Amino acid sequence: MRVLLTGGAGFIGTHTAVALAEHGHEPVVLDDLSNASEEAVRRAAAIAGLEIPLVVGDAGDAAVVGRAIADHGIEAVIHFAGLKAVGESVAQPLAYYRVNIGSAVATLEAMAAHGVDRFVFSSSATVYEQPGAGLREDAPVGIDLGNPYGRTKAMIEAIVADAAAADPALRAAVLRYFNPIGAHPSGEIGEDPKGVPNNLVPFLAQVAAGERASLRIFGDDYPTPDGTGVRDYIHVLDLAEGHVAALEALEPGVLVANLGTGRGGSVLEVLRAFEAAVGHDLPHEVVPRRPGDAAISTADPSRAHELLAWRATRTLDEAIADTWRWQQRNPRGFRG
Ligand code: NAD
Ligand code: UDP
Repeated sequence: MRVLLTGGAGFIGTHTAVALAEHGHEPVVLDDLSNASEEAVRRAAAIAGLEIPLVVGDAGDAAVVGRAIADHGIEAVIHFAGLKAVGESVAQPLAYYRVNIGSAVATLEAMAAHGVDRFVFSSSATVYEQPGAGLREDAPVGIDLGNPYGRTKAMIEAIVADAAAADPALRAAVLRYFNPIGAHPSGEIGEDPKGVPNNLVPFLAQVAAGERASLRIFGDDYPTPDGTGVRDYIHVLDLAEGHVAALEALEPGVLVANLGTGRGGSVLEVLRAFEAAVGHDLPHEVVPRRPGDAAISTADPSRAHELLAWRATRTLDEAIADTWRWQQRNPRGFRG
């Protein structure tokens, strides 16, 4: 299938482009490069061993998306484009509503105008109103979420459901990612955060590289086995393969599935895995909890096993080793 990846120059999009190519599909990227670089797409193409066309443009403009669909004979769209920093979304809510919701609506409109009916959407575990262990897709989802970023994801899920109710031909998948980490094992593509990373694994990578002094562990008094926060860390290659499986399983209507491992990892376990990859201890200190953080968030991934015949196979240690390889080879990310 010829697949348009909006936001496809980013972390998850580049890995998904490679996975699509490995499964015989033809990825085309549409990205405004607001949080990515052309170099990322070039490297993904080199790994995949084929040309990956890059259209530089705004997924919030239906005419731009429509032109990309027509020019490249697109049959399916995976919609990654959006802004994703939780803290920034609190400070700049209108930008988050404009970019995230605007790009989803414009992309769906362009698809309808060109008769494209396969759609996969990047949602997030943040849509669950009550975080916890073994979250199932039927757990309550709503907009009472504490930050605008999560609200945009829950709203777009509702928009996709409404669009499918109005158009019986639409075949959509809403994929709720847990915590994507890792990098391609080649060390050629990976996560390239701008500024100080908010997320644990990219921050730790910079501590390991000596760019940041010390990891701050946000609380060790949670009701978890070692007192630190627990998340469901999933290797970005497993996540990428989940998109291929979802694309190939699409049926009329909306399929909603968690993409997670079902296993929890604590902050201390991630720290120890990183220390093992690097070969020495890493500086860290315990500081108070970060406001808004849940004690635990892990998936029940059984629906994805059943409906997509997909499951995550890579370990936390592999993901951390791949992150460290990417970090060492690209200390300045894609900036060379
Ligand atoms: P990313 O920032 O690396 O990728 C997003 C891409 O979208 C970037 O390349 C950016 O340049 C592009 N973009 C932004 N606005 C655009 C616009 N208007 N038009 C065209 N392109 C635009 O982020 P990622 O980690 O690869 O995330 C991809 C998607 O997955 C996002 O929707 C994100 O919210 C979602 N998600 C990410 C995580 C995570 O932890 N990384 C977790 C859950 C969900
Ligand atoms: N965390 C931490 N120090 C950091 C960043 C994160 O202790 O510098 C913890 C955070 O409290 C959470 C876990 O690591 O328990 C994962 O945080 P991240 O921001 O990566 O993901 P999210 O909270 O969005 O699931």
